[in-house]
Amino acid sequence: MHGLLRGGDEVILSGDLIPHGSRREDTREAASRAMDLLRQDEEIWNLFTRKEEYDQSGLDGYGRFPYYRSGHRDVCTPRASQVLIENGFQCEYPEGRPFAICLTHDIDTVYKPLAIKGYEIARSLREGDFSRVGRIIPQLRSKKIPAWNFQTIAGLEETYGACSSFYFLALNKDDPEYAYAIEDLDQEIGMLQDRGCDVGLHGGCGAYCDQETLLREKRSLEKILNRKVDGYRNHYLRFRVPDTWELLERAGFLYDATLGYPDCVGFRNGMCHPFRPFNLNADREMRLLEIPLAVMDRTLLLHMRLDMKQAWDEMERLLAAAERQRGVITVLWHNEFMIGESLQFYKKILEYGRDRGAWMTGGGEIAAWWEKNGLRPP
Ligand SMILES: [Zn+2]
Repeated sequence: MHGLLRGGDEVILSGDLIPHGSRREDTREAASRAMDLLRQDEEIWNLFTRKEEYDQSGLDGYGRFPYYRSGHRDVCTPRASQVLIENGFQCEYPEGRPFAICLTHDIDTVYKPLAIKGYEIARSLREGDFSRVGRIIPQLRSKKIPAWNFQTIAGLEETYGACSSFYFLALNKDDPEYAYAIEDLDQEIGMLQDRGCDVGLHGGCGAYCDQETLLREKRSLEKILNRKVDGYRNHYLRFRVPDTWELLERAGFLYDATLGYPDCVGFRNGMCHPFRPFNLNADREMRLLEIPLAVMDRTLLLHMRLDMKQAWDEMERLLAAAERQRGVITVLWHNEFMIGESLQFYKKILEYGRDRGAWMTGGGEIAAWWEKNGLRPP
């Protein structure tokens, strides 16, 4: 399934030519018509553009706009997408698949906790903070153990006919969130790319609001990949509407996959389709594509305080909602959540997708597909 969109302009699957015919201008024209339609209902337009987020008071401790602050309460219904589909907008996916699940992984840590302690010790030693070193050393019980399960994750997804995106941090050693050197993952990342996985940047805590930091991290990852980086998600889902979109577009990213609430699953701007954001300050539609995030593992399994049965009911509700709108539902599963019950939960999502014939792939392929096809007006 992966690698569909490489090698030329035509999309060839199992020997068939998918009748797309759309040129880039057509998808832009279609996007503008979608905007015109959404604009006709003020509440939907405010939801779609995230107007309430332009007021940046009352953000949480990470500078994020939380769901509990939103005036749009019906977050599990993709209301903006619904308006478009009910008015005759259509979309199609490769092989006539009915909807898509965009599978993504943020790589926050690659060592077992002990190694992080190791980094803390090294940093404290460098800074001459010996009392801190004294506090950490007793916590060490075993050796530094890499927890690189990327190939296992990719292998698991392949058995379901799926592939996914991996977003890597590319931080400097002095960054407070530093957890690994991206250079040390050179080979692992190469193997992921060889398997057809999408590799993008997981911007650090400061990248969402600072162009220099963003560009520096992008360049660090590009050095490893030996190519341009297209996809992005910010660490902790830190995001500022519309500024982060502007920074990402200027930095040359093709798509972002950050726009989801950290404290509640659902459709933050009412869309269960990728879309071009609209900047109300500049009164313009952007080139960057947003593939909005609907479900993060931590949100669903921890922050929302649901038991496993309730969490699955919620998950199924969102999957069904996206399926009804022939949409794309984006799921974030961290590599450290690939154990025990949360791994079983992830497998259930893959099973659901396989049984319903969903296109399960990463953000890179979704973005490339959207660029040529997207939502088509009636
Ligand atoms: Zn992260």
